[in-house]
Amino acid sequence: MGYVVYVNKFHDRAVIHREECSYYQNRFKDRSKTGYWEGVFETREEAAEFARSTGKKLADCTFCMTRLPWKRRERVRASPMW
Ligand SMILES: [Zn+2]
Repeated sequence: MGYVVYVNKFHDRAVIHREECSYYQNRFKDRSKTGYWEGVFETREEAAEFARSTGKKLADCTFCMTRLPWKRRERVRASPMW
């Protein structure tokens, strides 16, 4: 179970997703030129590190990172960067 980052050039954002996220699972259907996937990263920190290195605005996927129940079992660390 890992993390992936979608770098969206159009919106200038790098969005962290769970590997299980349906957005990522359906990635091969996405043929747009607005961005690309990177990963899989083992930890959210590694994903965030890559996301920051792109120079884009870092964001969490609102679907897989905030709504689903597995979030509750995670150590949540508050950070002004995120
Ligand atoms: Zn997601």
